[in-house]
Amino acid sequence: MSNRPSPNHPGPSTVTAFIDESLLLFLKPEHRRPLQILPLGRRRSIKDFVESLGIPHVEIGGLRLNDRQVNFDAILTGGESIQVLAPTEPVDPTRPDELQRPPLPKIRFLCDVHLGKLTRFLRLLDFDTAYQNHHGDDELIEIATGEQRLLLTRDRFLLRRARLIHGYFVRHTQPADQIREVVRRYGLHRFSRPFSRCPMCNGILQSVEKQEVLHRLPPMTANHFNAFYQCRTCSKLYWPGSHFKTLEAWVRDWLEGNRA
Ligand SMILES: [Zn+2]
Repeated sequence: MSNRPSPNHPGPSTVTAFIDESLLLFLKPEHRRPLQILPLGRRRSIKDFVESLGIPHVEIGGLRLNDRQVNFDAILTGGESIQVLAPTEPVDPTRPDELQRPPLPKIRFLCDVHLGKLTRFLRLLDFDTAYQNHHGDDELIEIATGEQRLLLTRDRFLLRRARLIHGYFVRHTQPADQIREVVRRYGLHRFSRPFSRCPMCNGILQSVEKQEVLHRLPPMTANHFNAFYQCRTCSKLYWPGSHFKTLEAWVRDWLEGNRA
C-alpha cells in the first residue's frame, strides 16, 4: 500500500485541484493536467493558492471548494478539493459574475503594445479600444482601472496584477485569429456596427457632404465617390474605395464564424 495521496484521499497539507482545460496553459508544463494533487504549503486564500500556480485571477470564472461555490477569500487549510473554472462564453463583463467583480459600465478594451492590429480590427467593428504603444505596465493597469476598460494582452504576468479587475490573455498570435477569438469570447457579433469608428484613433465617424471635403480629395476619388465619412477626433476622411470590399469581407469573416 502506498501512502502517497490519491484524488480520493488527499493528504492534509495538499489540495486536490480540478482545473479547467482552457486554463492549463498558465501552469508549468509539468503541471498541465486537469486533475492533480498539489502541495498547499501553508494556510492561504484560494486566490493566493491558484495564483501561485500561475493562473491570473482575471482568467477565473468560478471557484468551488469541496463542491461549494466560493469567492476568492475562501481559506484553504489542507485536505480540500477545489475546482478552478473558466468563465462561460460569451463572457459579459457588464454583468455581475459569481466572483462579485464590479461590472464594467460598457464593453471597452485596452490593448497592450503588441496588439496594434487587433486594436484596429476591434475599432473597425465599433468597439471603443484604447492603445498607446509607449505605456509601461503600471500605466496600462492605471488606464484599465481608471477608464474601466478590459485589458487584452499577451503578457500573462500583467494579468496577475492585484488591482486589475477585467483582463484576458489573448491565446492566438495572428491578428486575424485574435479578432475571431475576442469576438467569440465576448459575443461581440451581437453589438458590432462595422465602419462607425476610426481605426487609427478610436474616434467616431460621421458622414460629411462631398462639397465640404472636395478640396481634400484626390481628383479620381472626387469623380468616383459620393459618400464620405470624417473622424470627429483626427479628421481623417474615409470613403468606400477599392480597399473597402476587402475590409467588408474580413469583417464578415470575423463576425459570421461566430453566429451560431
Ligand atoms: Zn481618427
